[in-house]
Formats: sequence, structure tokens, C-alpha cells
Amino acid sequence: VKVLTDRINRIEVSATMAITAAALKLKSEGVNLSDFGAGEPHFATPRHIKDAAIDAIEKNFTRYTAVAGIPEVRKAIVDRHACDFGSNYTPEECVFTTGGKLALFNAIQVLVDHGDEVILPVPYWVSFKDIIQYAGGVVVPVESREDENFRITAKMIEAAITPRTKAIILNTPSNPSGAVVSPADLEAIVRLAHKNEIYVLLDECYVYLNFTGEIVSGGSFTDCKDHVVILGSLSKTYAMTGWRAGFALGPKQIIGAMSKLQSQSTSNAASMVQRASIAAVHGSQECVGEMRADYIKLRDRVLEGFKTIPGLTCTVPEGAFYVYPNISKFIGKGGVTSATDLAAKLLSEAHVVVVPGEAFGTSEHIRLSYAVSGDVIDEGVKRMREYFAKLA
Ligand code: PLP
Repeated sequence: VKVLTDRINRIEVSATMAITAAALKLKSEGVNLSDFGAGEPHFATPRHIKDAAIDAIEKNFTRYTAVAGIPEVRKAIVDRHACDFGSNYTPEECVFTTGGKLALFNAIQVLVDHGDEVILPVPYWVSFKDIIQYAGGVVVPVESREDENFRITAKMIEAAITPRTKAIILNTPSNPSGAVVSPADLEAIVRLAHKNEIYVLLDECYVYLNFTGEIVSGGSFTDCKDHVVILGSLSKTYAMTGWRAGFALGPKQIIGAMSKLQSQSTSNAASMVQRASIAAVHGSQECVGEMRADYIKLRDRVLEGFKTIPGLTCTVPEGAFYVYPNISKFIGKGGVTSATDLAAKLLSEAHVVVVPGEAFGTSEHIRLSYAVSGDVIDEGVKRMREYFAKLA
């Protein structure tokens, strides 16, 4: 008897979650791990954000709210986006979701039909592929080049457009490579979508963790906004991963459909989280700049450490908080057969948690999140150096 649907069988458990589970098991057995697995800030959520949630609970702001979020949170989010990027969304063009991942999931569900093509730059964040496939869409990968720092250009995207293209996914800065699409290419891609009447889904989860000094959003090109959907998250910007706070900005028709879907699934995101999110986006943004400055230092610390590991090469990430070193020199050595195998051996033999590149569409890399303390970086790099020395 067939128990499960075809659509659930089209997807896999998130690879980052699988590695986290394996690491947790070792941790529970008392093993001291150098953990670069999970993609989440090591910082605590800032005080003023926590206080807003506590205040909401104390005031019994603990009931159902409007499905798309209270008007105040939607206004706060569009105001912040307008202030930072010159976009001009109205609160009706914003839906507040239970995390950025749900915003992406719902956007794909309402836009992508069976057989629709979705252009996806490689390497990609692990969930994009599965979410597209769950909707019945066809992933059209666009390979980036490591010797060009994994940068995606408008030219690469244009070459992948066909009459069946429905959407382009763009995640800049990128998880896992940290690559940033240049402002000129970002504008060109948005204009390309507009011209071809397809949608560009911009995952701006790391938009504030851009180290180039130029923080840009695809929402700035207001004359093209009918073909742009912004997927936002408070998780990384404000160290709020566990709160599940995300949003989408886009054309009313799409936002309305996403709200309808939400009305039949999660309903509103947690009421107190909405209040906390208002405090996050309305409050002082100093904490965001401070965390960004720390991430830059941590990135440099990892890259310096990698220089002491012969055979390991790594591009310089321009944003997010990941490094994506190339490990091809170690495949075939010491019984290592693939990046997945290397990640498993790094975990069991060196007690270092990394995510294998296969999860992101490449076979010669591993991803490390450097949103950890400097000490964790130093110890982890030391363990990797010793492990790789044994392989060589
Ligand atoms: N998009 C990207 C590229 C991510 O890396 C993540 C989290 O790792 C998300 C979206 C989802 O973030 P959240 O659901 O916590 O808002």
C-alpha cells in the first residue's frame, strides 16, 4: 500500500539538519565538537528585542492576529526596507511569516506549477531545490565559476531563460559561497525578469551581512516591482533564528495568495514575535552593524587559518557567514571518496562539523559557518590541519 505522496517523496530532509542531528548525538555522548555546521548567529538576540516580546506576553498580546501579520509589523517592515533601500512597498504588499523559509516556500507554492522552470544559481542554499521540486517545478541550474568567486551575472541568467521559465532565484549574499551579485548585475537581472515577464525571487536573508560596503536590494528598482518578490528574514540580521520571523514583499496578487495559503496552514506567525520584530526593525540598527563588523573579523580569521592547511583553497566570501573551501585535493586520499564522505570523516575522526558541498550542488567543497567564537575557529582549524596532514 502506498502511504506517502509522490510530492513528499520528491524532497529530502534538509542536509544541514541531518548533519546537525548527527553532531547533536555525538555531543550528547560528551564529545567536544568544533561545530561549523548550523548556519546561525552565535550572538544573543539584542536586549530591546527580547524586552518587546516579554512586554507583549505580560500585556496578554497572546491571541490570534491577522493572518498576514498585524498592520504595525507590516508597516514597520516596509518602512525599514524603504529607508534602507528606497523601495516603496505598502503594508498590503507585505506578509509576515513564520520564518524566511516559509516565505520562500509559500512564494514558490503560489508561483510555480508542474513543469515550470525555475532558474537556480549553483551553489545554492540546500532548501531551494527541494522546495521547487515539492511544487512540481523543474530546477534549471546555472553554474557559477569558482575562479570568479562564484559570482552570478545577468549574462549567465539570461542564457538560462526559456519560454518555460517562471522564476529566477537569487540569494545574495549567498549561502553557501558568500558570493555577492554586483549592484549592476542585480539591476540587470531584475530588469531581465521584468522584460521577460517572469519573477525574480530575491532571498535577502543576508542582505545586511554584505561586506562590500554597498548594501543593495532588488527592491530598489521600483519600476520593475511587479516582477520582484523579496524574501526577508530577521533570523540572521538580528540573531533571531529560533523566533521564526520572516516576511515577503511583492505584488499584491502574490502576497494575497501567500496570505491565503498561510490562512490554511500556519495562520499568523506568533503574536509576541510580531511585537519583537517591530522592535527589531524600528529600533536602533547599531547591533546589526556591530555584528557585521564581527563577522568580517571572523571571516578573516578562518581564511588566515586555512592558509596554514596545505591543499585547501578558498574563495573570499563577500557576505553572509560561510566559507566554502575546495577540498578536491583530498578526494581519493586516505579512503576519502567524496565531500560527503569527507564531512562524515571530519565529524567522526576530527570532531569537526561541516556540511558537504553535495547539499549545495557542488561535489568538491565543504561549507563552514564561521558564526562562532574566535576560539572555536582556532581549535577547529587546528583539528582540520592535523586531519588533512594525515591524509596528504
Ligand atoms: N534563505 C537562506 C539563504 C538561508 O540560509 C536561510 C537560513 O539558513 C533562510 C533563507 C531561512 O531563514 P529563516 O527561516 O530562519 O528565516
